[in-house]
Amino acid sequence: MAKYAVPRGTKDILPDETALWQRLESACRRVFGLYNYGEIRTPIFEATDLFARSIGVSSDIVSKEMYEFKDRKGRSLTLRPEATAPVVRAALENNLIGPDKLTKLYYIGPMFRYERPQAGRQRQFHQAGVEVFGSADPLVDAEIILLNLQLFQELGLNDLSVNLNSVGCSVCRPDYRQKLKEYFHDKVKKMCADCLNRYETNTLRILDCKEAGCQAALEGAPAAVASLCPECLAHFQAAIKTLDYQQVNFVVNKRLVRGLDYYTRTTFEIIAPSLGAQNAISGGGRYDGLVETLGGKPTPAAGFAVGMERVITLMTNDAVPAGQTARMGRQECLMTNEGDIILYLVTLGEEAKKLGFDQLVKLRKKGISAEIDYLGRSLKAQLKTADRLGVKYVYIIGEAELKQGQGILKKMATAEQKEIKFDSLEEEIKL
Ligand SMILES: [Zn+2]
Ligand SMILES: [Zn+2]
Repeated sequence: MAKYAVPRGTKDILPDETALWQRLESACRRVFGLYNYGEIRTPIFEATDLFARSIGVSSDIVSKEMYEFKDRKGRSLTLRPEATAPVVRAALENNLIGPDKLTKLYYIGPMFRYERPQAGRQRQFHQAGVEVFGSADPLVDAEIILLNLQLFQELGLNDLSVNLNSVGCSVCRPDYRQKLKEYFHDKVKKMCADCLNRYETNTLRILDCKEAGCQAALEGAPAAVASLCPECLAHFQAAIKTLDYQQVNFVVNKRLVRGLDYYTRTTFEIIAPSLGAQNAISGGGRYDGLVETLGGKPTPAAGFAVGMERVITLMTNDAVPAGQTARMGRQECLMTNEGDIILYLVTLGEEAKKLGFDQLVKLRKKGISAEIDYLGRSLKAQLKTADRLGVKYVYIIGEAELKQGQGILKKMATAEQKEIKFDSLEEEIKL
């Protein structure tokens, strides 16, 4: 019997298993890079206040799950329970976020929550995630969901379902909260202690309750989508339309509220039903108010995090040989260096942007790294970004090109330009 044991809720990852972890991590880096996300590494601990302010004092995470400690000077610090708040803090501190600027970051690393350990839930666990800052475009919501699905596809994960919801904004959420309060007013006395507590502090989270005794009351609860303000509704409909068009299988789940207070508008979770009770393998959404809450200028944002332990379980269960899992083999990938972007789609006008986004999705699915403008900027500004990214090509879709089903492909090295049909774009840049 060994004298010391690993702390409760933590785990040693041994060489037998680290091969899987390495495969997962490199798939994350490759796919995140393909979508133009750059890696950020923040400290394991942060000032406690950062999490209290962002995740919300009434959330389970802050109220009972944080590894909080005082350092030798008496400062209150906390092992990060999630990475979004630290990433926002770092992005602000290092001036990575700014008006008229799209910033895309990813992270991979351990997180810490004092929870009851069970299958799929540990006190030290790992997440890989992305964050996009600067755009309120619903195409960004679609992008992160497509990115998340491509990652899982590359890992050979099947039978996943996407749950989608909108939790509204600071304008319409108070109405929704009120409707929930009215609905649960008489029911909550018969519900669990957590629900009773959440009724006052964090009403939306009642919807998240897993207790068997609470389920009947939850069934008839009003849906957030029915309370959305016109702007939030239009946003949600646009995101749904894009996902539909891209043939993403999703269901709108009115009970999907997520455990963190900072979410606004679109929220989503990807579920692997084979995992049992803890079956969400990733989750995320928009958090348009968080940057401002943490002291920055109002900056729309969105992101998601993948629960790496759960993905590892699926990779182990599916036991697909490494060679067969990658739909897009490394050799097919056109990136010269990880993170290099090959092509920038310059689009002028809403219609062109929609078409450009479709091209973007097609290219990325084929392993060709590409980027588009989500800020509705001028031709000149878009070309400047393309230049800064050091792309090999820009593909320009304007109104004239749109009508002809083609765009102008410009090779940056030689400034050579030619008209290329949408259908032939992939073939042309592979030459
Ligand atoms: Zn709203
Ligand atoms: Zn309950």
